[in-house]
Amino acid sequence: MKALHEMGVAELAQAIADGKTSSTEATQHLLARAKQHTQLGAYLAFNEDASLAQARAADARVAAGERTPLLGVPIAHKDIFVTRDFPTTAGSKMLEGYRSPFDATVVARLGQAGAVSLGKLNCDEFAMGGSNENSAYGPARNPWDRARVPGGSSGGSAVAVAARLAPAVTGTDTGGSIRQPASFCGITGIKPTYGRCSRHGMVAFASSLDQAGVMARSAADCATLLTAMAGPDIDRDSTSLDLPAEDYSRLLGKPNEGATVAQPLKGLRIGLPKEFFGDGVAADVLAPVRAALAELEKLGASLVEVSLPRTELAIPVYYIIAPAEASSNLSRYDGVKFGHRAARYDDLIDMYKKSRSEAFGPEVQRRIMIGTYVLSHGYYDAYYLKAQQIRRLIAQDFQQAFTQCDLIAGPAAPTVAWAIGEKADDPVANYLADIFTLPGSLAGLPGLSVPAGFGLGGLPVGLQLMGNHLKEAGLLQVAHAFQQATDWHTQSPTGF
Ligand code: GLN
Repeated sequence: MKALHEMGVAELAQAIADGKTSSTEATQHLLARAKQHTQLGAYLAFNEDASLAQARAADARVAAGERTPLLGVPIAHKDIFVTRDFPTTAGSKMLEGYRSPFDATVVARLGQAGAVSLGKLNCDEFAMGGSNENSAYGPARNPWDRARVPGGSSGGSAVAVAARLAPAVTGTDTGGSIRQPASFCGITGIKPTYGRCSRHGMVAFASSLDQAGVMARSAADCATLLTAMAGPDIDRDSTSLDLPAEDYSRLLGKPNEGATVAQPLKGLRIGLPKEFFGDGVAADVLAPVRAALAELEKLGASLVEVSLPRTELAIPVYYIIAPAEASSNLSRYDGVKFGHRAARYDDLIDMYKKSRSEAFGPEVQRRIMIGTYVLSHGYYDAYYLKAQQIRRLIAQDFQQAFTQCDLIAGPAAPTVAWAIGEKADDPVANYLADIFTLPGSLAGLPGLSVPAGFGLGGLPVGLQLMGNHLKEAGLLQVAHAFQQATDWHTQSPTGF
């Protein structure tokens, strides 16, 4: 039998069901491995007793004859989901030592499906960032080159999967935080349609954009977790879509309608937005993305050029809307209701100022200031309202494109992972790197990134696929067909 950490979700579940290993053994193995590789900065918290208790409960369900796709499989959660068994920090000093009295809906559902939680994963503070360098608990390191960022904000999540410290993890994506780190770390990650997963118990960043998702090695494993996580939760999250849950594995391995086994994607039209293939994309990213598209063509898909003419505007629009919503969401951390309180202060106002200045990092403070400014009287119409109007136009551009194609493909990010520190003092340089993930986020569309090869320095490159609302199963079908034909997703960094 191969090493337990080399197994994906499906393999591990099978080995547990067959009695070749147990959930307890797999949990112990992965916990030991995670603790052996703390230099990667992937995990922020463990609770071995709680993890092992969950594993024993799963083993009891197996012994009682239960056979479900996640039963006993150890996973880990981005530290933005609140958890009863582990502390939750959202990567911030503000929430240091916080323990939630309940589990986020996503966490609870995966637990009910039999998954075991190994711990909590590093992320940018309040999910603000694209490099994991904004975490108050230090950066996470890209296992393909430890001097480089893993991407963010779900950086610890991506590192855990890439370095084989967990077979699958949760993440969140507000403007690309699943797809971009998946691309940088050579793993598969999907952000479903806005509203498809409950946001109950997900620490809020920008409520009109925040969405939970999953990262794993393969699209098939992502489908298994997403099936357990997604679905309505309207009593607890009013933005949760009131639509029945669905089986995201149902189209895997199935040929497209009217297609053949040799050409399973025949009839599929893949739109390539010309704005995603221009000067702004590094040549070492473009080459593997083009090769991946040629592979999809071989599988029967046809490629058509489309246009998303307002792609560039997605950056200024997102960096008005997201900070505006963040400034409002983060007002709850006042040292009274929630969060750190300064030890010494003169009066109430001074207490607010000192508590928030001490506990929020520079990027979070920057966004609170921007957000407060764009929402203030006199600027609201010029910035916030204008941004909302352009957001609508960006969404319409996608609908126009989807009249010509079934899904949209392009790079997930314009470059491979950059060096830790390289962009640390330049917020705008960080914001520009989000150009290919922000448009889909603003439109509320599902998107995923699959490993598509390597760029300079042997660093992974991701192919992004975006679909219309609720087309997750179709996206996963295409990603799976690609992964049946290629082996990029099976490659792992050496030294682990
Ligand atoms: N990089 C983007 C930002 O900094 C996206 C973050 C996210 O999706 N959480 O806001």
